[in-house]
Amino acid sequence: MRVIVLGGGVVGVTTAFYLSRHGCDVTVVDRASQVGDGASHANAGQLSYSFTDTLAKPEFLARIPGLVLGRDRGVKVRLSPRLIAWGGRFVAQCTSSQAKANTIAVLKIAMRSADLLTELREELPFDFWHREAGKLVILSTEDEVDGARANLEVKREYGCDAELLTRDEAMTVEPALEQMRGDIAGAVYSRSDEVADSQLFSAGLRDLLEAQGAVEFRLSSRARKLVKADGRLRAVVVDDDTLEADAFVVCMGAWSHELLRTVGINPNIFPVRGYSLTLPPGDASPMVSVTALRHRMVYSRLNGLVRIAGFADFRGFDTSADEKRSKLLLDLARRYAPEAADYGADDPKAWGGFRPMTPNGQPHVGPTSIPGLYLNTGHGMLGWTLACATSYDAANLITNVH
Ligand SMILES: Cc1cc2nc3c(=O)[nH]c(=O)nc-3n(C[C@H](O)[C@H](O)[C@H](O)COP(=O)(O)OP(=O)(O)OC[C@H]3O[C@@H](n4cnc5c(N)ncnc54)[C@H](O)[C@@H]3O)c2cc1C
Repeated sequence: MRVIVLGGGVVGVTTAFYLSRHGCDVTVVDRASQVGDGASHANAGQLSYSFTDTLAKPEFLARIPGLVLGRDRGVKVRLSPRLIAWGGRFVAQCTSSQAKANTIAVLKIAMRSADLLTELREELPFDFWHREAGKLVILSTEDEVDGARANLEVKREYGCDAELLTRDEAMTVEPALEQMRGDIAGAVYSRSDEVADSQLFSAGLRDLLEAQGAVEFRLSSRARKLVKADGRLRAVVVDDDTLEADAFVVCMGAWSHELLRTVGINPNIFPVRGYSLTLPPGDASPMVSVTALRHRMVYSRLNGLVRIAGFADFRGFDTSADEKRSKLLLDLARRYAPEAADYGADDPKAWGGFRPMTPNGQPHVGPTSIPGLYLNTGHGMLGWTLACATSYDAANLITNVH
């Protein structure tokens, strides 16, 4: 069976891997010159198997006016017809019951992904800075602690092993939290969460698949149009070529919308820009991953370096504010955790990426209304965490193994 994977981010490359396991003849198409060049390039690297909480929840509604008015430094909004349409769907997900259902649905995928990556690590011959780091989500107020307690009770029913810690307990787990003591009312600790670099994973997997002759990578090649004939998807136009296959799977993250609209499908994915910095460690850099919820920043220790990531900008594909946003991230990260990194380093490796966000926080995985066309996209804030499970599922669905 010939399958074309459109998009070579962590999701596309992992999909190609599982498809090759089914004996498919696979080609990955990406417009970039290397795999993992989109959102998968320098994300926070957290394999956040326990913290799958959806952004769309009742508390978020009260924040919307402030966000639109620019009162939150971690979020920038530019209203557009597309954002308003997406936002309407997002708001419809902000009920307690939907928030719970969406969080649990993603938790289930994440837990399967953890098992699949563990299996995969046994056989992958390359390093991708994987570490069993654990993760602490810092709660700044008693209200946040109460909310986390209720949330954990629900998640535990589904096998999540995260626990609620007091401030002192959290500092015993990660002494580097001392520098943010005043901001900590408690923390959620998930011992089983991990870190790894999704770009290194994607690049290593590509090298492996190419060396095995299992997958062809057609890079620096832009997918322009999907072509339907006789009621099914027959081809994709890539630059000046028309490539035919038995099945096509769109893994183009935030850009999936552009290609899918050529056949009238709207996946309701909005690009949400976030930023990262990669710095040498400071005098007290956490070894455990830290998420500062209120400040919308995360700290991960990757191969001895400190990756700080954060912010959520709803401004379409605009990148004109990148320099300013990266500088603000550096300033806020320094203020919040002054000893966590060497903030004065010459090159903070500032980067920005577009998270492919769906209104309910769940990815689209599986067939579409057009026979031959499949999706594995819309992984939002958790694409690295979820990639193994959704790619495994997509490959099974494409090859009809259930
Ligand atoms: C700041 C930040 C921090 C994050 N931290 C984490 C984290 O800690 N843990 C986690 O799990 N997730 C995290 N994420 C989310 C995660 O990075 C994404 O969900 C994930 O990378 C999405 O992967 P993808 O393969 O779907 O998309 P991408 O990696 O964006 O890949 C899409 C690919 O499609 C290609 N493409 C686009 N248009 C075309 C075209 N026309 N033709 C051919 N190719 C095309 C692009 O070149 C790109 O390679 C973070 C994201 C950001 C921005």
